[in-house]
Amino acid sequence: MMIEGYIDQDQRPDLGDLLRLTVTISLPDECVANDIHIAFQAGCDAVESIEQFCNSGSITNSAGIAYSGRQRPAMADCRLFRKWMAMCNESHYDCSEHTRSGARLRFVDVKQMCITEINEDDKFLVPYVALSYVWGNANTLLLTRANHIILTQQQALLSVDIPLTISDAILMTEKLGQRYLWVDSLCIIQDDKNDVSRFIHLMDIVYSNSEVTIVAASGADAECWTPGVAE
Ligand SMILES: [Zn+2]
Repeated sequence: MMIEGYIDQDQRPDLGDLLRLTVTISLPDECVANDIHIAFQAGCDAVESIEQFCNSGSITNSAGIAYSGRQRPAMADCRLFRKWMAMCNESHYDCSEHTRSGARLRFVDVKQMCITEINEDDKFLVPYVALSYVWGNANTLLLTRANHIILTQQQALLSVDIPLTISDAILMTEKLGQRYLWVDSLCIIQDDKNDVSRFIHLMDIVYSNSEVTIVAASGADAECWTPGVAE
């Protein structure tokens, strides 16, 4: 195995100096396959966002292909995520520790496409996915005193404009085999002071009790799509 580090200044001057590490594994002569080249790249300050980083594409060089530490398909393979979730459920003792919030939690029911309220039962907590994202300046659909009854009707979310980050999270929740999604803008009545203050104090519990949290890290606001989710 040969490991080689170098600074690549030529190929993408707009990204600044790229610190590369290539690993070459030479296979014995009797192997039919070619030698294996894997290139890793250090994080670079000149890349402004993860989106930009992911979209910068493959850069080939004589020693191998950059960004190929793990092949990244255009669509996320949710079987991998479900496998991680199953591993977590089966073998992580700490992750199965849940804190009682004592609250009626509201969720987006991705099966019925509406907002639903679920009483926290003494015996079990309903499994749900949480979304962490940036609201930004997007004109986001909010749960309000005026619309919260309407949005609890089945299919109600099909007839309103849902911001892209949230609709991608709804899709991902389904793909993860889950039914409930917690999103602050749709699960807290935003113009109800009591509701807001009740849930602000529960934020740590809401996130720590979720089966999994989707972190939409590449978006600047709620109208940004999440790479790898929708076709
Ligand atoms: Zn875990």
